[in-house]
Amino acid sequence: MTAVGTHKNTSKDTLRDVLIRLQAEGAALGHFNVADLVLLKAVVAAAAETKLPVLVGASEGEREFFGARQLAALVKSLRQESEVPIFLNADHTHSLAKAMEAANAGFDSVGIDFSALPFEQNVVRTKEAVEAIKGVNPAILAEGEIGDIGTGSEIKETAQGDFKNLTTPEQARQFVEATRIDILAPAVGNMHGMLKSMVQGKAKKHLDLERIAQIKQAAGVFLTLHGGSGTDDEHFRKAIAAGINIIHINTELRVAWRESLGESLARDSNEVVSYKILRPVVDSVKQVVSSRLRLFHGQQVSPEAVGSVA
Ligand SMILES: [Zn+2]
Repeated sequence: MTAVGTHKNTSKDTLRDVLIRLQAEGAALGHFNVADLVLLKAVVAAAAETKLPVLVGASEGEREFFGARQLAALVKSLRQESEVPIFLNADHTHSLAKAMEAANAGFDSVGIDFSALPFEQNVVRTKEAVEAIKGVNPAILAEGEIGDIGTGSEIKETAQGDFKNLTTPEQARQFVEATRIDILAPAVGNMHGMLKSMVQGKAKKHLDLERIAQIKQAAGVFLTLHGGSGTDDEHFRKAIAAGINIIHINTELRVAWRESLGESLARDSNEVVSYKILRPVVDSVKQVVSSRLRLFHGQQVSPEAVGSVA
């Protein structure tokens, strides 16, 4: 017992240990982005509710708003009081300086993203970042990205591009071999953000499941699926079976956050107590996270569990 509270989490499991265990169980680790304490509280509450591990993620923009070191300190504190493992990932890191900032702040993994560059330059820049962050702490997992999955976890009118630049198994093998990454994020029909029709529940994303299985075999590393929001439930299950280890959900959380915040503010225009306004927002986002976590662990999920963003 220390002055700051009870340390429930005596587990020494690293992110790598948990990924190996989940892979053996046929499950995937849920990755949920946070930009503020409301979202972080929701993700941690969902982990506690479902008793399932989580990977908290923050992109460069989210880290800038939160503060990379402040977020790392909060997650470290929450992890000490959690009965399930909580990890922290630096999502979509586009420079060596930002990768080093996250590594030095104590992030468990860094998503290195030079996927907008031509393949050869992507290899060179990713390799350099992998070596640099492993120099800070060899246990940090390095993720690399190839292919095009669009940008921005937002609501979109129409799809960007036409999924021409999907990752091939040969590219995946070459990229992993040359960069020594631990985790590969391929383009397999996934896309950042959601179309309006997906937010309304009228359309779903579909994944190239055969390609996932081929990439897994060729790459031989953990696979991350970015842009998971709005994906068909059955495709999630099959993608995990094909070799996906981590699934990113961001837009669904943002949609739930905005909708519930609007409702909470509209409920009583005289209410000025921030925690009374924000508490229902935490609950709404938590519901989305819990539902996704259960799905990624092969548990039954009721169709209405994620509300209008199902
Ligand atoms: Zn992403």
